[in-house]
Amino acid sequence: MKTVDIVVPCFNEEEVLPEFVRVTNEVIATLPQYSFRYILVNDGSRDKTLMVMMKLAEQYDNVKYISFSRNFGKESAMYAGLEHTTADFVIVMDADLQHPPAMFPAMLAEIEKGHDCCALYREEKERKDGFLRTAFSNLFFNLQNSMTDVKMPKGAVDYRVMSRQMIDSILAMSEVQRFSKGIFCWVGFDTKWIPYENVERTIGTSSWNFWGLFRYAIDGIVCFSVSPLRWLIIIGILMLVAAAGLGIAMIFMAIFASVGIFVPVLCAVLAVGGILELSMGILGEYIGRTYMEVKDRPIYIAKLKNIEKTDR
Ligand code: UDP
Ligand code: MG
Repeated sequence: MKTVDIVVPCFNEEEVLPEFVRVTNEVIATLPQYSFRYILVNDGSRDKTLMVMMKLAEQYDNVKYISFSRNFGKESAMYAGLEHTTADFVIVMDADLQHPPAMFPAMLAEIEKGHDCCALYREEKERKDGFLRTAFSNLFFNLQNSMTDVKMPKGAVDYRVMSRQMIDSILAMSEVQRFSKGIFCWVGFDTKWIPYENVERTIGTSSWNFWGLFRYAIDGIVCFSVSPLRWLIIIGILMLVAAAGLGIAMIFMAIFASVGIFVPVLCAVLAVGGILELSMGILGEYIGRTYMEVKDRPIYIAKLKNIEKTDR
């Protein structure tokens, strides 16, 4: 019988977890040709998520859990879960039922056809997110696709099923600052993208705010592209050319007309200052990341778990 591990990062999901397992079990019951196992990762929740997980593990012997010593973020939680998988196929999904388990049969059918991965993207008939969030989301996918080597459809989410070979390649990427959406694409392999209808979160709350999403978007680009560094060179050259042109114009103006020098000088100082500041910021992003990466700290620290990496 083929085996499937379901990796679920969980942060403050005490309310939804029992319902998640109940709904998912219903879908699993329709797929008797596979043996499923849950790997729930408690990412330093501040509520009773861990207790709920332990209770579920008592109730069902295919429920395994890993509990972190603190909140390390969803990316680290996914990595921890993947590291403990041994199955032929691995599903990654959110705990909040926004990734409908009802998609399992369609996803597994694709992977049985020989694809290495079947991933989902949100297809929205009507817009449910706000205007601003939608606009930023579109901007993110456009920038990501044009500036980096990782290409993904608009609305791509982290919900997917992958083959053992692909999981092993992902685990071989040991970077500490993980941007999984990018990593999943970067490793290559043959991914089948299928749409699903967006589901609102009905239980619990989303842990994202605007700045969190902004940082996530910056991560998506900086982790997979150095082209912003190249822009700095181009901006520098353009500014030198502009300065030379202005200089010549100034000489003529000084000869033929009398203009106050204060305003143009102030403009130039402000423009140069702004561009330098921006450039330092971009450089800082890369240097900071290099610094964090060089430290080579562990991606997560587990405090408690009922699963070993070799278990099946
Ligand atoms: N999550 C996590 N660690 C965090 C934040 C979120 O493991 O620091 C989990 C969360 O429990 C959920 C998934 O990541 O299973 C997606 O989170 P959320 O629903 O808040 O994000 P959204 O669906 O709004 O993108
Ligand atoms: Mg969610």
